[in-house]
Amino acid sequence: MRLLKAYRFRLEPAPATAREIGRVAGCCRFVFNRALALERERFDRGEKHLGYVALCKELTGWRHAPESAFLGEAPIHPLQQTLKDLDRAYRNFFEGRADRPRFKKKGRHDAFRYPDPLQFVVDDRHGRVKLPKLGWVRYRRSRAVAGTLKQLTISRCGGHWFVSIQTELEVAEPVHPASSAVGVDVGVAKFAALSTGATFAPVNSLRKHQKKLAREQRSLARKEKFKQNWRKQKARIAKLCAKIARIRNDFLHKTSTTISKNHALVVLEDLSVRSMSRSARGTVNAPGRNVRAKAGLNKSILDQGWAEFRRQLEYKQTWRGGIVVAIDPRNTSRTCPFCGHVSAENRKTQAVFRCVRCGYDADADVNAARNILAAGHAVIACGDTKGALRPPAQEPTSVSEAA
Ligand SMILES: [Zn+2]
Repeated sequence: MRLLKAYRFRLEPAPATAREIGRVAGCCRFVFNRALALERERFDRGEKHLGYVALCKELTGWRHAPESAFLGEAPIHPLQQTLKDLDRAYRNFFEGRADRPRFKKKGRHDAFRYPDPLQFVVDDRHGRVKLPKLGWVRYRRSRAVAGTLKQLTISRCGGHWFVSIQTELEVAEPVHPASSAVGVDVGVAKFAALSTGATFAPVNSLRKHQKKLAREQRSLARKEKFKQNWRKQKARIAKLCAKIARIRNDFLHKTSTTISKNHALVVLEDLSVRSMSRSARGTVNAPGRNVRAKAGLNKSILDQGWAEFRRQLEYKQTWRGGIVVAIDPRNTSRTCPFCGHVSAENRKTQAVFRCVRCGYDADADVNAARNILAAGHAVIACGDTKGALRPPAQEPTSVSEAA
């Protein structure tokens, strides 16, 4: 079995190199926005959409035009990859998976990528990478890089530059050490409830930091734009955002590892479907305004978390030889596992499930997790795994943090 791995380290560039890195990121953003503007103009004129290859031809022209000659000084491959990203964004848009591509802003998701190992060198022993036109750049080497080099990405996060090195590894087909199956219900009050009865509370420190973030953002709004104090505040916010992301990621990794280690089959709800069908969950007889506000806060924190959690579970299961099944979420929170009665009345409050027909009662989230597990077994028994069994994650997945 072939595995894709990604190692992420913090770069330690000299100030001049850091400026150069920022310049390359800026060129990529310029190319992306210019190509996007071009596509939009063509769209408005009713002309055909340009693909990646046609855009690359445009890029050559821009690199030679006097008004954008600075592009000629940036390495070509990351610029082309930017066009590839735009192409993919458009394809996602055309196929209904995403919104229309938007212009990139300075300082948001600054990143660029070298798609071919011929374009960079990784000196694992000394913890440094060599990049075209940038030379050698040191990174904080927290672990060794294993496998065949595939591609390399540079990105900015919280005021620092990071390198992400993706490799491919050939390993023996794993056999999952456990034979058990588990249903997982993700939610707001409890981050996850398992059909075994175990629950995972969301991290408390996240809420604290989120509040602080809101405060800092209000402070930013009071400052005059682009002035010194505004910039300082902006940097403080970026740092805090990065910290929140680290806490969340750490929590998600610990939780997904625990579940993946202990169960060969993990059943989840298909959340893209659920967000539509169960959006009102938790607000039925909401016990008070404060509770709702807190739930809203947690939800905003965890919204991205759920998708990332599933992604982690999927690749971790792939590594261990287990599987993840995603099921239709309809009625999982309203079905009585004992008599099969389905009713919204069964779930009068957020916390407790009580069947109105047979009187069976249980923790509402654990009950949902049990129904999810049952639905997962049904899917597998029918062999109806089309769309339910996810293909093994082929995105680069393992992340090694060097903070
Ligand atoms: Zn019942």
